[in-house]
Amino acid sequence: MAHNTFSSKRAPIFKDVPDEKWNDWRWQLSNRLNSIEDFDKVLKLTDSEREALSSKGLFRVDITPYFVSLIDPEDPNDPVRKQVIPTAGEINSFTGMMEDSLAEDRHSPVPGLVHRYPDRVLMLVTTQCGSYCRYCTRSRIVGDPNENFSRAEFELQLEYLRRTPQVRDVLLSGGDPLVLAPRILEYLLQRLREIPHIEIVRIGSRLPVFMPMRVTDELCDMLQKYHPLWMNIHVNHPNEITAELAEACDKLTRAGIPLGNQSVLLAGINDCVYTQRRLVHDLVRMRVRPYYLYQCDLVEGAGHFRTPVAKGIEIIEGLRGHTSGYSVPTFVVDAPGGGGKIPLGPNYLLSSSDHNVVLRNYEGFITTYEEPLSYKAHDPKTCKYCRNQTQEPGQKGVLGLLESDEMFIKPEGFDELHNRGGGVHRLRERNDKWKPLGIGSGEEE
Ligand SMILES: *Cc1c(COP(=O)(O)O)cnc(C)c1O
Repeated sequence: MAHNTFSSKRAPIFKDVPDEKWNDWRWQLSNRLNSIEDFDKVLKLTDSEREALSSKGLFRVDITPYFVSLIDPEDPNDPVRKQVIPTAGEINSFTGMMEDSLAEDRHSPVPGLVHRYPDRVLMLVTTQCGSYCRYCTRSRIVGDPNENFSRAEFELQLEYLRRTPQVRDVLLSGGDPLVLAPRILEYLLQRLREIPHIEIVRIGSRLPVFMPMRVTDELCDMLQKYHPLWMNIHVNHPNEITAELAEACDKLTRAGIPLGNQSVLLAGINDCVYTQRRLVHDLVRMRVRPYYLYQCDLVEGAGHFRTPVAKGIEIIEGLRGHTSGYSVPTFVVDAPGGGGKIPLGPNYLLSSSDHNVVLRNYEGFITTYEEPLSYKAHDPKTCKYCRNQTQEPGQKGVLGLLESDEMFIKPEGFDELHNRGGGVHRLRERNDKWKPLGIGSGEEE
């Protein structure tokens, strides 16, 4: 691959493993490290890590030999290490922490499907992963082999999708869809492709990062039969970018799969403008487009990874304008309680008047943009796309306010709370007679 100057690593204990084994994803899966004894062979565990690894009820630990090799064994603060090796911080609960912080269970019409947005669904197809991220937003189900999805549940998911024509985008996630037996993954893609209203399918996978050897020619040949297919990978730090990952991304993009990256903003790992800049530059060199940078969820066990929201805004400040637009992800807070993703960033609009806006750029240069004095608004009546809108009631959101279909959006309980007068306006009571208040009515005092 051209311009591939990324390096390769293998921890000394694996140096005698034959290449055929090392490069076999099944070997990587069955030789994962998960115990104190395993880790003692590759690095020097800290007391905090030892304490976590010997505690009960810990979220599953499993790390591929490939991924563990990316850790600098001498560095207790290594950014790869902190993502996958638990510390005592994980077993302390924090106030505000929730098991299901995104209220996914509440949005689930059938097991494993999360239908939160009007036109797309999240389809959880497995609870298993290549390795387990300590800040996992779905740690309530992920990693537990007793919580896996059955064939019967896949059929329920598919049946829901067949009878829900507004779904045009299905996002396969989990767990990690690429750990599924290839036969099952292909079965699901086939069934999804048979549903005419499903326009695109996406796969969210960290396997290219945890074990790039999973991206075989057979996998790419299989996937490309089901286009349009998109994929998001999950890289958080430049140390995760290796020659092997670059090769895997090259194969996937050659198979016609556009690649995006979703990162999580993590304290002590990637909460740094310059680390993020290196990360996004390395990603675009592999033709991976930074997609989202997530604020860490309010999930149990992840409290010690959280940063202030302002850190994410600062990172976007340090990217937008400073580097290629392709390299700038959208910073999002996935709203607790199931509100979905909310994008945040610096404010570039400083002020406005009736025909002028005051803007600033990344350098702090302040400018104005004079708006047209005469603008003939788009006419929905002559636009076929406007006329063909069909939407579930209540789904227009804030756009409905702009299009003046609605004048307000009220929080739950608003009407009851603001109906203390019983529905009749009686700001003043004079004897038993109610009179409307009006200018010049002579009632003002
Ligand atoms: C993130 C997410 C999606 C996809 O959102 P996009 O912004 O389209 O990437 C869909 N459903 C759920 C429940 C999600 O959390």
